Amino acid sequence: MISRIRDYTYDPRFIEYAEAEALKMVTHLFTDAGRTWRQAAKRNSMGRLIFEAMQEEMRGPIGRSIRLQAERNAAIIKSLPLDVAKQVNEHVLREAMKGTRASEIAEQIKVFFPEASKAKANVIARTEVSKTSTALTQARCEYVGADWYIWRTSEDARVRDSHKLMDDVIVKWSDPPSPEKLDGAKRAFGHYHAGEIFNCRCYTEPVLDLDQFTWPAKVYYGGRIQRMTRKQFQKIA
Ligand SMILES: [Zn+2]
Repeated sequence: MISRIRDYTYDPRFIEYAEAEALKMVTHLFTDAGRTWRQAAKRNSMGRLIFEAMQEEMRGPIGRSIRLQAERNAAIIKSLPLDVAKQVNEHVLREAMKGTRASEIAEQIKVFFPEASKAKANVIARTEVSKTSTALTQARCEYVGADWYIWRTSEDARVRDSHKLMDDVIVKWSDPPSPEKLDGAKRAFGHYHAGEIFNCRCYTEPVLDLDQFTWPAKVYYGGRIQRMTRKQFQKIA
């Protein structure tokens, strides 16, 4: 099945489509983070750089990371019939690239699943969609040399306590936190980025401009959350 999915992701028609979509990304990608990308594009040369990066990305490391994620998704949902798995993958990719929010895509994906596995479908869809979003943002950040992101939660009552703790915290891509450990929980799930664990609706927002914060700001550094002034952050960034 993975090789079938791979055939599809390397299909020239898909790549052609993906390249066309990459051009649109600068205005569409990630409803919330998108605002920041656009503001950055207006304000400084970083925006132009990102736009050019997006034009290139389907041919470069980001295209690769999208395809890798598609393969990973395929492996995770291998208990489903192949045609369903393929449809789900295509749908997730198409919608994620359009900038549709993870929660909305998860809702859309439910129609692909047989009634009996709806509950499982929910968890798979939400988790996979948000992992794909995080992978995309990470790949983009790497491409433009942005080493940090801001952990954002959906800021509602359903956010788990350990993730509430992470809200608005600046995190380095190379040093993911263990939110459960920071929260003193008995059961931890290892170190991971926003959106990378089951049922997590948190998302990542790239740090492109230090003017976007009110300093001092919360930074995950040295295994704990610290309040840092702009100067302190610049020293470690
Ligand atoms: Zn979360």
